[in-house]
Amino acid sequence: MYAPAGVKTNTDYPIPDTMKAWVLGDPGQLSLTDKPVPVPKRAEVLVRIDAVAICATDLEIIYHGPPASILGGMPHNKNFTPGHEYMGTVVALGPGVDEYKIGQRITVEIHAGCGQCKRCREGMYTACHNYGLNYGDVDKGHRANGFTTDGGFCEYQVNNINTLVAIPDAMSDEEGTLVVTAGTAMYALTELGGLVAGESVCVTGPGPIGLMTVAVAKALGAQPVILTGTRDNRLEIGKQLGADAVVNIRKTPDVVAEVKKLNGGKGVDYVVECSAATAAVNDAVRMVNRGGRVCLAAFAHEEVPVDVAHIVRNNIYVYGIRGEGKSATHRAEAFMAQKRFDATKIHTHTFPLDDLPTAIRYAKDRVEDAIKVVVKAKMDAAQKEAAE
Ligand SMILES: [Zn+2]
Ligand SMILES: [Zn+2]
Repeated sequence: MYAPAGVKTNTDYPIPDTMKAWVLGDPGQLSLTDKPVPVPKRAEVLVRIDAVAICATDLEIIYHGPPASILGGMPHNKNFTPGHEYMGTVVALGPGVDEYKIGQRITVEIHAGCGQCKRCREGMYTACHNYGLNYGDVDKGHRANGFTTDGGFCEYQVNNINTLVAIPDAMSDEEGTLVVTAGTAMYALTELGGLVAGESVCVTGPGPIGLMTVAVAKALGAQPVILTGTRDNRLEIGKQLGADAVVNIRKTPDVVAEVKKLNGGKGVDYVVECSAATAAVNDAVRMVNRGGRVCLAAFAHEEVPVDVAHIVRNNIYVYGIRGEGKSATHRAEAFMAQKRFDATKIHTHTFPLDDLPTAIRYAKDRVEDAIKVVVKAKMDAAQKEAAE
């Protein structure tokens, strides 16, 4: 029976000694194994994982490696469990923890920075200078579950209390997994871009981050919110989440001119680039007005030629975004708890945790127009039926 010294548990939430966990072998290879249930230390809790969403970054890690960093290198064949967009229930408290209660439902943001480097002290803990330095005798206290430490494709995980976000009972498990995605959108819009109500926004690429960026921008009072992409079904979901106008770039020869036209003939104030298309960066810097801002939120797989002179001449600000810093996830959760937008419109499929490879295939190959695919260790009967 799980009873580590100094850890508070509760008989209402019995915890086994071992759990099911998926581990990454060679690139693209996952196998289901048993691991000991981890033990929370000071300022940490044990979370029973109730649902976990698959993110494009999980696919990057599973198939390519970065941005995961395990034992100072690639994550393959190191008994590493990926997965980072999870939610669950607090079931044990590490020494001294009184900020959360056993039985409380929470979702998580990913990065517990070291708390001591320059960036962590500024609240930019997703850009921690001690990223991944949490093994052997270089234990800097940094954790990014599913990136530098074990993640959520298992039954239990430890989380620093700074990564927890309490969620209301009215929020479903699936919706809970989407809070961090909305948190990344919030970080892009308010912290990096400094967006204020009434500014114009264009989002390029209707993936999960792009669609959540549309929703959060609209909820923040952006006007207009324009979404560009190649698939009409996703653009339609963008409209339901608050886009004032959508542009299918396959049907529009000059997307930059079209975005300007939709904004009264002027460039927009802020573009959030979520497509990773090679042409997208130059399109983005041409879509903004002079002095405008561009946030790059997608991983390009090759070096992209960029019209630097245009950026210089027009005083354009370009940001790279890393995750969801400055507690933006808490502010995103506040919007979702107020039902300012319905994030569940991007959730399309749920599978049992045991079927993770199927779930990953759905997410990767967009089977049945999959957007956000969720896995659950314990599915209720109706969901099981729907998955079969
Ligand atoms: Zn993610
Ligand atoms: Zn740090």
